[in-house]
Amino acid sequence: MKWLVLMLQEMEEARKKVRLKGNKKVRRKKGEHGVVCRWCGSREVVKNGKKPDGRQTYLCKECGRRMVEKPKYKRMREEDLKLALKMRAEGMSYGAIGRVLGYSEAAIRMNISKKTLKTPSGT
Ligand SMILES: [Zn+2]
Repeated sequence: MKWLVLMLQEMEEARKKVRLKGNKKVRRKKGEHGVVCRWCGSREVVKNGKKPDGRQTYLCKECGRRMVEKPKYKRMREEDLKLALKMRAEGMSYGAIGRVLGYSEAAIRMNISKKTLKTPSGT
């Protein structure tokens, strides 16, 4: 699995660059909860009750859409997902893939199952 090592090295380099760029701390105003609308990027987001499981939900005043604090699993970046699919094809477990890429096992599972459901499986 030489390709895997090379790819991971490349990804690590890319991430380092991103980290350096995005190192500025965002200062929050008092009273602001710092939630940005994931749909339109607006900061006009208000608290909008809680889910039965206790997670806070928010409502965007700008576009009217709702979002939930802490989604149950992280949405994977496209490149990570591609890599995860390859690893899966190599017979790696969801847990192992998660540890390598920095996601939870559930995240890997959900993202992969979503992806494979979307793409029509050729018979
Ligand atoms: Zn919005």
